[in-house]
Amino acid sequence: MPKAQETLLEIDLKALEHNLAYLKSRIQPTTKFMAVVKAYAYGNAAEAIAKHLETLGVDYFAVAYTYEGEQLRTAGITTPILVLHPQAISFNALIENCLEPNLYSLKVLKAFITTAESLKQTDYPIHLKFNTGLNRLGFSEADIPEIISLLKNTASVKVVSLFSHMAASEDLNEKPFTLNQIDAFNSISELILKQLHYKPLLHMCNTSGILNFPEAHYDMVRSGIGMYGFGNSEKENIHFKPVSTLKTVISQIHHIPAGQSVGYNRAFKSDAPIVTATLPLGHADGIGREYGNGKGFVAINGQKAHIVGNTCMDMIMVDITNIDCQEGDEVIVFGDYPTAEEFAATANTISYELLTGLSQRIKRIILK
Ligand SMILES: *Cc1c(COP(=O)(O)O)cnc(C)c1O
Repeated sequence: MPKAQETLLEIDLKALEHNLAYLKSRIQPTTKFMAVVKAYAYGNAAEAIAKHLETLGVDYFAVAYTYEGEQLRTAGITTPILVLHPQAISFNALIENCLEPNLYSLKVLKAFITTAESLKQTDYPIHLKFNTGLNRLGFSEADIPEIISLLKNTASVKVVSLFSHMAASEDLNEKPFTLNQIDAFNSISELILKQLHYKPLLHMCNTSGILNFPEAHYDMVRSGIGMYGFGNSEKENIHFKPVSTLKTVISQIHHIPAGQSVGYNRAFKSDAPIVTATLPLGHADGIGREYGNGKGFVAINGQKAHIVGNTCMDMIMVDITNIDCQEGDEVIVFGDYPTAEEFAATANTISYELLTGLSQRIKRIILK
């Protein structure tokens, strides 16, 4: 790769392939794979990622909102797409784009049946989500009789899958809790399967569920963060390759004498002379103020350069006092080192938030 001369997010499709192959090595060959590409494929580039995953033969895509699914259809994606959190206002658009809704309450199930009937649909694919402990979105077990009666009274929809979501699959201290969730999902799906004359797919695991709970893979697994290079633990991270590398460049170097300040609000004051580099990347790009004032660091020629003072909208200043570098040199914000997980941790957050918060104004470069 030529050195970056501006801020770039490089997206390595080979790394994506590697991660997918690793995740698939952890499931049975017959288990289906749902690739979660919500939030622009976790900040990467939904279209390029989904197209590549489609050529690699994933079984399903998942997005959060209808509009994200519409964008994938416009880009030519033909694989089934589950919309994890659709709102009733978007049900017409959802059906027009052959997207499949997650229905999670009697209210949304009824609303969807009404829309499907009004559009003269038969057996329109739907997915039912059950709450087994996350307490976020999902039917409860007590809803089952009414779900069944609604389904028996319409020909407009057909249940493609029953699913649930784990609350703490990455945390083995919470293993008993997760096992309880699995038990709850088993009894819920048993109750429903008894009353349907066909068998929907069952699924429960996200990335950490895939890695930690092989007994809960069922018919399909859903992975997001793992595909993008993170296993949510040191033990697993070594098997994954980060898909994205955020690079930038040194715009200007300043020699700051003792007694001066750097940046807005004079948040940094030097008690000894320091050298700073100004980089074209700021909170408008998704590098928030929490990273400022010595917390976050980037790598310049492999060495740590901590952020000095407050993060500005379009710039940060970093301390290069002990680093041999020049204006125009490349800077790694995250990638192999520091990783997005390490960088995120400096601001007490997680790779998910850092990646999905990267602004669309950062140029994406797809490496094939
Ligand atoms: C986002 C999401 C996933 C993906 O989780 P990862 O931890 O990124 O693998 C899976 N299932 C549901 C319901 C989600 O909302």
